[in-house]
Amino acid sequence: MARERILVVEDEEDIQELIRYNLSKEGFQVDLVSSGEEALTMASASMPKLIVLDLMLPGVGGLEVCKLLKNNPKTMHVPVIMLTAKSEESDIVIGLELGADDYITKPFSPKVLIARIRACLRRKMAEVPPENVAVRTGNLIIDPTKHSVSVKGKAVDLTATEFGVLHFLARKPGWVFTRQQIVDAVKGEDYAVTDRSVDVQLVGVRRKLGPCGDYIETIRGVGYRFRE
Ligand code: CA
Repeated sequence: MARERILVVEDEEDIQELIRYNLSKEGFQVDLVSSGEEALTMASASMPKLIVLDLMLPGVGGLEVCKLLKNNPKTMHVPVIMLTAKSEESDIVIGLELGADDYITKPFSPKVLIARIRACLRRKMAEVPPENVAVRTGNLIIDPTKHSVSVKGKAVDLTATEFGVLHFLARKPGWVFTRQQIVDAVKGEDYAVTDRSVDVQLVGVRRKLGPCGDYIETIRGVGYRFRE
C-alpha cells in the first residue's frame, strides 16, 4: 500500500524531528520544509495528502501560506492542520476562515497530532450528505425537507434560525466552524443571525435538544463543532 504523504512546514528543528519521527513510525511518508516559500513550491510539486502548517514562520507566514494554498486550484483540496500557540486564538479563527481544516496548539503530544491527522483524512474522505438528506446521530434526527428535528422520536420545536445553524454544523461532524462561517452559511437563507447572536442561537438549540444538546461543542475562543 502506498504510504500517505504528509507535508510538514515547521522551522523549529526539534519540532520537525518530533513530527518526522512519529509520523514515519506510523507509516506516513514525511516531507519537511522550514519556510512558507518552500511549502508552496513543495505542495504543488508533490501533492501531499495533508499539510501540517506552523503559523509562526520566518518570511511568508503560515496564514499567508494557508491563504495561497486554499486559493490555488491545485492545492485547495489538500487538508491543512495549523500548528499554533495557545495564545493565537485570533490567528486560529483567521486560519479557519481562510480554509484551514483543523488546528492543534503547541505543545502537543505526537499521539494527538496523529489522531488529528487521521481524523482529518477520514473527514475529507467522508461524503457530506446533500442538503436535503436527513442527518441521524444517535437519538437525534434532523430532517431538512420537513424542517423538523426530533430527539428519541419526540419533535423538537426550533426556530428557523436555530434549525439552520444546527443543520449546518451537523452535516459536517468533527469540523470546527467559526462564528463568522456559521453566519455566512445560514444568512443566505434569510435567517436573522449575526456573529454575536450565534452564541445565543446555540444556547437555545442545546437547551431544546435536551440529552442531545452536548452534541454541539463549544471550542473556546474559536467557534463550534458538532461531535464526531
Ligand atoms: Ca515556528
